[in-house]
Amino acid sequence: MMQHYFETARTADGARSAFTVRPIESRLAERIRATLRDDFGNVLNPITTAAPRSNPCRHCLRLTDPGERLILFAYRPFETSGPYAEVGPIFIHAEACDPYSEASGIPLDFRERPLTLRAYDARGNIHCAEVAGAGAAEEVLERFFADPAVAFVHARNPAWGCFDFRLDRASAHDSDDSHDSSTIREWVGGRGDATPV
Ligand SMILES: [Zn+2]
Repeated sequence: MMQHYFETARTADGARSAFTVRPIESRLAERIRATLRDDFGNVLNPITTAAPRSNPCRHCLRLTDPGERLILFAYRPFETSGPYAEVGPIFIHAEACDPYSEASGIPLDFRERPLTLRAYDARGNIHCAEVAGAGAAEEVLERFFADPAVAFVHARNPAWGCFDFRLDRASAHDSDDSHDSSTIREWVGGRGDATPV
């Protein structure tokens, strides 16, 4: 199992990645498509999108183009309850699609856009947050996951606020000796007064 994590926590160019990307669960996507109801009482109607390179499917993590059929539903991307466990709208393809399963790295369609990255602790309380410019998310995530208080990170659309995908630390036992831990602690302290927005 450790070997599996080690091998999958590498980017396409072979560099070690600090995180893995997790789309919504396939069983949820399948249930939404089958019932056309979400967990918050909404009756859902599939739509045909007219917007190019927009409305990402949170299951395959691809942007969609005009003519693709989508379902919009309310989703709470947390495994814990509490004040931070907010609910919001997300799209999935109306027909079956393959879950995002690349080894690691930011999904290709999201590398061209800025991302809001919110880091949470194991209880689901927000720990720090930052807007990463296009192409800068991986550097921010390396810093976030160097902090042991960070349990997981959500990527969101900066303007619209919608949840895009979750990121988890590649492996709890996969420490990287190249980091200067004192520098990391100093940085984390500097972000400790960050307030959620
Ligand atoms: Zn999809």
